[in-house]
Amino acid sequence: MRILLTNVSLVEAPVDSVKTVDLGIENGKISLIREHLSASSGLGSEEDPWDRIIEGRGRLALPGLVNAHTHLGMTLLRGYGDDLPLMVWLQEKMWPLEDQLTPEDVYWASLLAIGEMLRGGVTTCGDMYFHMEATAKAVTEAGIRACLSRGIQGIGGSGLRGLVDGVRFCQEWQAAANGRITTMLGPHAPFTCPPDFLHKVVDWANRLGVPLHIHVAETMAEVAQIANEYGTTPLGMLAANGVLEVPVTAAHCVHMQAEDLELAQDKGVRIVHCPGSNMKLGSGIAPLPEMLAAGLTIGLGTDSAASNNKLDLWGEMRLASLVHKARTQDATVVPASTALQMATYYGAMVLHLEKVGRLQPGWAADLILVDTEGLHWYPPSDRQASVVYSGQRTDVELVMVDGHIVYEDGELLTIDEDKVRYHIDQSARRLGLLPVNPM
Ligand SMILES: [Zn+2]
Repeated sequence: MRILLTNVSLVEAPVDSVKTVDLGIENGKISLIREHLSASSGLGSEEDPWDRIIEGRGRLALPGLVNAHTHLGMTLLRGYGDDLPLMVWLQEKMWPLEDQLTPEDVYWASLLAIGEMLRGGVTTCGDMYFHMEATAKAVTEAGIRACLSRGIQGIGGSGLRGLVDGVRFCQEWQAAANGRITTMLGPHAPFTCPPDFLHKVVDWANRLGVPLHIHVAETMAEVAQIANEYGTTPLGMLAANGVLEVPVTAAHCVHMQAEDLELAQDKGVRIVHCPGSNMKLGSGIAPLPEMLAAGLTIGLGTDSAASNNKLDLWGEMRLASLVHKARTQDATVVPASTALQMATYYGAMVLHLEKVGRLQPGWAADLILVDTEGLHWYPPSDRQASVVYSGQRTDVELVMVDGHIVYEDGELLTIDEDKVRYHIDQSARRLGLLPVNPM
């Protein structure tokens, strides 16, 4: 399908184009960007052989948003265990319930998450969980781009079985769904993966040629535990065990020492900042301005819907820009252009994807059209600042992934929402998740 989006305004951080453009899409890629021609030569002609032309007047075209760290299967647990600190939330709420989740639960929870994300303009996600084949099936059907890892832990006796599952998942799903699926190994965190287990994971990452996705320095409790057991920081513990010798996507990095920033920069560790989840779980505020100043590549993530509770990159962009201004009492840190880059191109880099996250000829046709007719967009001003500070996910009007339109005019084209609601309701009932007095 060859599609031409005409007369759209381009928001390509960091350069803010003032002209409206026509944007051509062929074979899943952006094939041309040209200054808007007032009269198109029309469908099917030899000069302009488009199967469909979409008029985009008054619309902004943005790269699709990248949610670089989440757990799609946990969307079923949204609202279960609110207002608890991370360790209590994990050990008393999440882990016992997760033992009861079936592949079917994870499949429907993944579709629920993907539907919510697509509606909000997220075209790529980085996921870590279990029953990952069920998530991969949902990703394949729903048309989102995803970097998937089977979450594994070295404690509790199931570590090696998880590692075997994770390796097999990479072997079977790498580059599946027309290349929309890429894979990683997902050791959960330094405090759940002892050194001998990490050595095995690194060995397999090398053999498979895949990166690692891991939580790092999320809470002070983790920092204290690692200091007590290994006499170093969480990132230092990973370095001491060879983990940073392979490409790493490190989620959170809330409690980083100066030496951690140097280490991360030296080893090329890519980081996912999750401000909403870190705030909700009371984990702290990551030193984002300091990490950016150290030259680190940093994307944005929502973390799971059980600790956020939205999978909303518009909200995370805004939080990422605002919370650090408050912490440092410096309004110049994390400007809108940086927050937007983190939500798009940097996020794709953090997931080790190539030619994803920018609107450029030859890059993936992952993009969104945003309606700017809402009163909260007026008067028109700096587009990047408007996106980050005034925009919201309900302004997204059209979503394209890999050249295919998956959301348009208020409707998901790849997901039956009623069916998803029905199955989520069934799973929630079986797991005893429904409140006594539901809304
Ligand atoms: Zn997480």
